Amino acid sequence: MFCYQCEQTIGGVGCTKVGRCMKSPEVAALQDIQIMGVMKLAAMARPQYTELPTELKDDIAKTIIEATFMTLTNVSFDGARFRAQTAHIGDLIDQLAQRGVASAPTDPEVAAWTPAADPKAARIDLRQARQGKTVVGLQELIVYGMKGVAAYLDHAWRLGVFAFLATRPADVGALLGMALRVGEHNLAAMDGLHEANTAAYGDPTPHEVQWAPWARTEGKCILVSGHDLLDLYELLEATRGTGVQVYTHGEMLAANGYPVLRSRFPHLAGHYGTAWQNQVAEFRDFRGHPDDHQLHHPRVGDYRERIFTTNLVGVDGVTHIAESAAPGWVGTTAAPTAAGQAAAAAHKSTLTVGFGLPTVAGVADQILAAAGAGRLRRIFLVGGCDGFEGSRNYYTDFAARAPRDTLLLTLACGKFKLNHLEHGTIDLGGGVVLPRLLDLGQCNDAHTAIEAVKALAAKAHCGPNELPLSIVLSWFEQKAVCILLSLLHLGLRNIRLGPALPAFLTPEALAVLVEKFNIGPIGPSAQADLDAILGPQ
Ligand code: SF4
Repeated sequence: MFCYQCEQTIGGVGCTKVGRCMKSPEVAALQDIQIMGVMKLAAMARPQYTELPTELKDDIAKTIIEATFMTLTNVSFDGARFRAQTAHIGDLIDQLAQRGVASAPTDPEVAAWTPAADPKAARIDLRQARQGKTVVGLQELIVYGMKGVAAYLDHAWRLGVFAFLATRPADVGALLGMALRVGEHNLAAMDGLHEANTAAYGDPTPHEVQWAPWARTEGKCILVSGHDLLDLYELLEATRGTGVQVYTHGEMLAANGYPVLRSRFPHLAGHYGTAWQNQVAEFRDFRGHPDDHQLHHPRVGDYRERIFTTNLVGVDGVTHIAESAAPGWVGTTAAPTAAGQAAAAAHKSTLTVGFGLPTVAGVADQILAAAGAGRLRRIFLVGGCDGFEGSRNYYTDFAARAPRDTLLLTLACGKFKLNHLEHGTIDLGGGVVLPRLLDLGQCNDAHTAIEAVKALAAKAHCGPNELPLSIVLSWFEQKAVCILLSLLHLGLRNIRLGPALPAFLTPEALAVLVEKFNIGPIGPSAQADLDAILGPQ
């Protein structure tokens, strides 16, 4: 196997024997071959898509998105489901061929793909040997960006990027243009998800959420992790009036900011735990049922027998709820059995969430006035992915050391590096006092950050790079890749990225991004980076 799609890749080079995420060589090969099948399917379907029967069109769209999303880091470790999905891709390609679809990918290996193709044909290290690391690194930047987009948008397949990539261009300029297109399309994907979430559950509003420690001596509870608000909604409906309390975990914390969920479901009881990499300890200690959407591979004996996966998430031997939309699925399939008593954790007892777009953009005038009057020196967007490495403590240090006349925006699970700290408030003037840390939500709520930056720039009559704004991102997997590409598509410069730069980007590929966007790594010292950003005091 060779996989270097996420930040924790072994040695900063690639996982070759088994993934640090516990992905097996077998699953790695199945994922590689599945992605190549997606490319072929997209390339064949796209030119004549509008002429295809609706049922076939819908099946192709759904398959491309789901087959892509399944290969995202920590989503599925289930070999049987990859085999079934890949076989289905082969069936769809056969159907297109039977309809006389003539178009075919120009890349010979993609064109030759069948579900039984030799996995070596898709192996990245072997392609590197043929095409060079720079070209393959840029090709993979696009694929990983699209994996992130697929996580956000059911209809991302219409974007046509996979079909485009099936030509496997080897020109660095063309590849950079494609990468920025992925960022553009990701903006559309996040916009659609934002519209859907806010239409269903209202615009998030600031809300103080109970965070451990707490102790329940009776009753039952379910812990919901991941990102999918619809899954949470259905579970809340299914447990309404049963006495079961539902807690959020990880990025699901953001759900507590949505007024419809809060008001309709009083048994949405609070938040438990921190980010995904702490699932093993936190799920083990939670005395109810964890239900997950983005899964740190559970070890045998830890909590496997109490966990349920939904949608595309899967692990061999873990109970999978096949159809989350079925009414009452929780009651029939995942009835809680354990008395709840969440373990006490050593952190503050509440978190404030729900800084949605109306709230943040609604104080744009005051933010600009405070910046003009010297009461607000800088806005830092510090967020992204969390992970195991001690080097990620940089972000805790950065936030702790940021001067009191700065504002911190955060989002995604990287927030758990900052949100346990007391950051105090900032007085913007005009009677507006804000918490210094504004939690914008999940990773897809990068949409809120981007729209807020656009609103500030429009009011200030300047470009986004002229705002008193610095972006300090932590990345781990492919959703961070597509968000980074969205920021670059908007022309944002001087982004600092850590804790390590992507292994798939060679120095030559990185030089292209440095030259155009001055993107750079975080430094070894948060204080030194703050000094460099803020300049002489
Ligand atoms: Fe390694 Fe990350 Fe790939 Fe897992 S997803 S095999 S940890 S590079």
